[in-house]
Amino acid sequence: SDHDLVFPSSPSEMDWSKHYPAFASSDGYADSSAQIDQASVFTRTKALPEFLDVGCGFGGLLFDLAPIFPDKLILGLEIRAQVAQYVEDKAHALRLAARSHRRGEHAAGNDTSQVGTGSAASSSAEGAGVSPTVGPDNTSDAQSSTSSHPNKRSRKDQAPGDADGDEEDAKDEKDEKEQNELLVARARTGNVAGGYENVSVLRANAMKFLPNFFRKGQLSKMFFLHPDPHFKKIKHKARIISSTLLAEYAYVLRPGGILYTITDVHDLHLWMVGHLDVHPSFEPIPDAELEDDPCVKAIWTATEEGKKVIRNRGDKWFKAYRRKPDPPLD
Ligand code: SAM
Repeated sequence: SDHDLVFPSSPSEMDWSKHYPAFASSDGYADSSAQIDQASVFTRTKALPEFLDVGCGFGGLLFDLAPIFPDKLILGLEIRAQVAQYVEDKAHALRLAARSHRRGEHAAGNDTSQVGTGSAASSSAEGAGVSPTVGPDNTSDAQSSTSSHPNKRSRKDQAPGDADGDEEDAKDEKDEKEQNELLVARARTGNVAGGYENVSVLRANAMKFLPNFFRKGQLSKMFFLHPDPHFKKIKHKARIISSTLLAEYAYVLRPGGILYTITDVHDLHLWMVGHLDVHPSFEPIPDAELEDDPCVKAIWTATEEGKKVIRNRGDKWFKAYRRKPDPPLD
């Protein structure tokens, strides 16, 4: 249930400095008391989130793209509280690992490789002298240390014939743990552009209040990667791509921006392209035009759901769309 979700009354009320403290300008750019117009917000802002991973799950895409686009703010939207917390903790641990390197404090014993396993990733880093700054990075150890891998997934939407759930969960958790250890080790070497300061997550329902969080045209990329398929016909209205929702996505996505989709459920692929193909604000992008787009490789390989499909040798269907300019008003 999402009845406890909070949202700002407008994008200028949204304080992104909590999510990206390293990008906050010194005078604070999201001052809710100030009646500032859009232009002045932008001049007082080092950056606003520009890439949005809708239903980011465990955040694989976010952490893959963060070092490729160190100057872009990348945000995951996730409705499940535990999963959003997991992503927040992971970003926190990776930032600490990268910061500890920058401060020359990557001493032995500063072990942040425990992210997601239920141990106090952040407190061990702090114990080695790393003090986080503001925002989610400043949340209590208790909070950051409680998020074990929330591996129990909802089966309500599982397709008939899916591999055994518990076995799959165990494999997911093992993969995830190995991946986390690699990421933290790399962050500690200092070879990660941007030090994960540009990645964050927001617990929100993407089907509600998107224009409360994001300005018109704020986003340059939106990702819909392995969205919940809602197999049964009666549940199709819960799908995250629909004509109504596409109008909202077109509002927050700037002309020229790209909306990416991928799924291993062929019926859902047909559903998504069916809606996008007929929507006046979007045009399909031929795959050949995206050959040099680094996001595409990440889309195919970096998400947790995508990795599971690779492991089970399943098929995937990909399609990307460009946000068309709005027609002139006559
Ligand atoms: N994109 C990830 C990946 O490829 O690994 C996760 C895919 S998972 C099948 C779908 C995710 O979308 C889940 O984590 C679910 O909680 C989230 N989700 C579903 N509906 C949502 C909504 N309305 N708003 C935000 N997140 C949502």
